[in-house]
Amino acid sequence: MSGFSLFDLNPEQEQAVRTTEGPLLILAGAGTGKTRVITMRVAFLISQGVDPSHILAVTFTNKAADEMRERLAKMIEPSQAKKVTMSTFHALCVRILRQDIEKLGWKKNFSIYDEGDQMGLIKKIITRTAAKDEKLDPNVAKNLISKAKNNGWREVSPGDEKTLAGAVFARYQAELKTLNAVDFDDLLLLAVKVLSEHADVRDRWHRRFRYLMVDEFQDTNRLQLELVSMLAKPAEGTGGRPNVAVVGDDDQSIYGWRGAEVSNILEFEAHFPDPVVVKLEQNYRSTNAILNTANFLIKNNPRRRPKKLWSSAGDGDKVRIVGMSDDRQEAEFIANEIAQRSVTESAPHEEFAILFRMNAQSRLLETNLRQLNIPYRIIGGKSFFDRREVKDLLAYANCLVNTDDDVSLLRIINTPARGISSNTVEKATDFSAKQKCSVFDVLTNEAFRGTLTKRTVESLDRFVEMLDRFETKLNTPLSDHAAVLREMMKETGYLDELKRTCKTPQEALSRETNLMDLLKSFEDYQGRSSEGLRGFLDEMSLRQEREEDDDDARGTGVTLITLHAAKGLEYPHVYLIGLEEGLLPHDRSKLEGTVDEERRLLYVGITRARRTLALSWCRHRIRYGSPMPCTPSSFIKELPPEWIIHRDATQILQAPVSEAAAKSKFGALRAAVERAAG
Ligand code: ATP
Ligand code: MG
Repeated sequence: MSGFSLFDLNPEQEQAVRTTEGPLLILAGAGTGKTRVITMRVAFLISQGVDPSHILAVTFTNKAADEMRERLAKMIEPSQAKKVTMSTFHALCVRILRQDIEKLGWKKNFSIYDEGDQMGLIKKIITRTAAKDEKLDPNVAKNLISKAKNNGWREVSPGDEKTLAGAVFARYQAELKTLNAVDFDDLLLLAVKVLSEHADVRDRWHRRFRYLMVDEFQDTNRLQLELVSMLAKPAEGTGGRPNVAVVGDDDQSIYGWRGAEVSNILEFEAHFPDPVVVKLEQNYRSTNAILNTANFLIKNNPRRRPKKLWSSAGDGDKVRIVGMSDDRQEAEFIANEIAQRSVTESAPHEEFAILFRMNAQSRLLETNLRQLNIPYRIIGGKSFFDRREVKDLLAYANCLVNTDDDVSLLRIINTPARGISSNTVEKATDFSAKQKCSVFDVLTNEAFRGTLTKRTVESLDRFVEMLDRFETKLNTPLSDHAAVLREMMKETGYLDELKRTCKTPQEALSRETNLMDLLKSFEDYQGRSSEGLRGFLDEMSLRQEREEDDDDARGTGVTLITLHAAKGLEYPHVYLIGLEEGLLPHDRSKLEGTVDEERRLLYVGITRARRTLALSWCRHRIRYGSPMPCTPSSFIKELPPEWIIHRDATQILQAPVSEAAAKSKFGALRAAVERAAG
């Protein structure tokens, strides 16, 4: 048990770690060691003889769970660390549902629909349901459905079906069930439902997890709170107390737009009476310049619990506010500076992070970093999973484990072309809607086949036979699922057709590589898990949704990350870009009255930095394809003058390099970097 000692903690942190029984609330500011305390608490529990498999730690993202797992493995026996359940809410719900979803009328092999699948289904339903003069934006419908589900709406009440939105919602739910699929919001909704309606299920999970911990509790929504309560609370009348520890910071609540309720943490006592409350005030992450900048900003928010945060890390450099002429200059400036600083300050690229509000802001940065040969990784993009070939392969895989999954089936039914026309497909989907069965079932339905030509029937037979055969292979005991999938892609001629339809050899190579990468990661998965294809697909769905690592994001280099995804993380040097009115705070926030949440988002961004921080804003930014004039964010005026310094990139970039400076290490480097950048 080498790396684990309570001496590394301050007295309040130690108290939190040692308080193992009953409810515990740690409400503390950024960088005060909340996540560290949770990890240590797990190690401490195990050192006290608690069976690691009885411990559950819930984090907000997979990345956070991975990090906690790594930290824990350094503190205790790795074999013990492995037995602890560290997972996101969604992954936990998948586990619960895979065991007991049958009680709710789904089959065990249900598919998890991502946003793309969801949109496909919603569009189809709108087209079918809307009258000629009725219109409903599918995006709006999707958001309404998601909101309703997160508010715990379990069914549509009959009156609601009179509106188009209500009717679409009702049909959407019904169709998902026919397809034996659930969407992301259902994961939570259905897990809560199965636990609340089936005491035996609840009991089983309650006995399984004796100790619960939840990080970033300020961002939980109503359903997540319900889930925690049900898992933690002993059955009525048994007199036991829930062993539940939650940590969070009301100033970092940034998911209100997704239904998170900061009241969950502020009113923790109401849900779990008489908790031990621990306050942490020492920040171990940042310099005083950074910490005071953050504190000063967040004071502008009304309705918050005041905190006294201090740091013993020294004052550090002032926070720079850099004005740029436009977003091109912003990206160029930052890439150049990182190139310089990585040499002059001997700072590895991994120590730098660039934070932004919107994913699209990363493009120019990527271009500039590439030009200077600076390695980088993007967190928060999900481009890998948006690629055609990746979606196709996953659709094939989904069909093997759940033939009722129409969205996947329709994606591959004629890919590669196998003589099943779009006309036939349309007839099949209409037929399935009327019969309330899956499209796959229609394909073997005699009444349906009677309406088709002999050739089409033969094509369908070949397709069904192929799926059946591979399904049987997959379900043979001890079968190598990755090999089955590989063989299937070969036999269907998918790969050949993919290559044929690419415009350039490079494109073909890149698509083929993606497929091979996906198969490779499946093989890796089989090496560490016995859950097979179904488990792998779950993991893939959980990875691609929300703010997660991209495929090749595992490498090293400068981190490019959205503000939302950066929550909980820390970097020695941070650039936070796009501090303009309209972007941060976002235009929408003024209409919706959520400027406070925007301020918290900036607070989260600032508090990611350990040693240096630069905030930038542009006079022009390309938005919707053309340069738009911008003004600095109103938040800049809220920062403490004594801890910040204003700079102008144009002057810095254009300042002639004096001879003396050019001879210095820094000047020579800058000249070299500028030459390299062309
Ligand atoms: P956030 O609010 O951003 O999630 P947090 O409260 O979870 O922050 P941690 O990430 O746990 O904070 O800790 C911040 C940093 O401070 C980490 O690098 C951690 O290792 C360090 N740290 C925390 N407590 C101590 C301590 N007692 N001694 C030394 N370093 C510490
Ligand atoms: Mg944390």
